[in-house]
Amino acid sequence: LAGWDFKPEETVVEIVPGVEIGGKQVHVIAGPCAVENEEQIISVAKEVKAAGATLLRGGAFKPRSSPYSFQGLEETGLKLLAQARRETGLPVVTEIMDVRNLPLVAEYADVLQVGARNMQNFFLLKELGQVDKPVILKRGPSATIEEWILAAEYIMSAGNHKVILCERGIRTFETYTRNTLDLSAVPAVKHLTHLPIIVDPSHGTGKWRMVQPMSRAALAAGADGLMVEVHCSPEEALSDGQQSLTPENFREMMRELNSLAQAL
Ligand code: PEP
Ligand code: MN
Repeated sequence: LAGWDFKPEETVVEIVPGVEIGGKQVHVIAGPCAVENEEQIISVAKEVKAAGATLLRGGAFKPRSSPYSFQGLEETGLKLLAQARRETGLPVVTEIMDVRNLPLVAEYADVLQVGARNMQNFFLLKELGQVDKPVILKRGPSATIEEWILAAEYIMSAGNHKVILCERGIRTFETYTRNTLDLSAVPAVKHLTHLPIIVDPSHGTGKWRMVQPMSRAALAAGADGLMVEVHCSPEEALSDGQQSLTPENFREMMRELNSLAQAL
C-alpha cells in the first residue's frame, strides 16, 4: 500500500485544515522532549510558535532507557498539551507507547507518534490502523528501511493511510553522536513509497550544536519536515537537554532554514 504501484501520487497528510505534511510546505514540529509542568510547556509552545513552528511536540509518556528516569506526566501531560494548543493554536504531536493508552492519548493528540523503540510493536501498529488520526512512525534504532516501510504497511493495511515516516538516527559503531542520522533514508523512502518523510536531527545526533546543520542537510535531501527538541532552559530539562535548542537557537535555525527553502 505504501508503494508507488498502489498509488502513483505523493501522499499529503492533513493534520488540521491548513496544515498538510507532504505538500509543498515544509513543516517544523518543535517543542520539548517531555512535558514537565504548565509553565514549561506553555512558554516553549509560545516561543516555537513565534519562531515559525507549525506543530507542537511534547511527550507525556516517555520511553526512557532507565526505569529510574523521569517517565512523563501521563494524563496530566496530555491536558497541558491541550492547554498549549488552546493558547497557541498549534496542533499537538505526542507519543503513544502502549495500546492500553490509545483511547486516552487519541483524545488529546492531533498526531500520534510511534517511538523508535515501538516501531515493530505490531499490535500497537494494527490498533493505530483503526484510528482516524495521522501517525508519525519513527524508524527503529536498528531497523532497515524495508522493515520500517513494512511497519507502515501494518498501519495502512489495518485501514489508516495517514502515515508520516520519521528518520531519527540508527545505531552504528559510532559513539560520538547518540545515533547516526541516516539522511540517505530520505531519498530511499521517496523512491520506494509515496509517504511523506520528516527528519529528527535532535535524537539523530544527540547534540544541539549539530541540529541546525543536519536540519539544513535534511531539507536539502528532500525531507517534508523536521522534528526538533526545544527547551527554554535545556540545562534544567528532565530529559534530552543536551540535544535541545534554546528558543534563541531555534529562532536562528528557522531564519536560516527560511532562506534555504527559498534557494531549494
Ligand atoms: C521522542 O521523540 O521523544 C523520542 C523518544 O524519540 P525516539 O522514539 O526517536 O527515540
Ligand atoms: Mn527526546
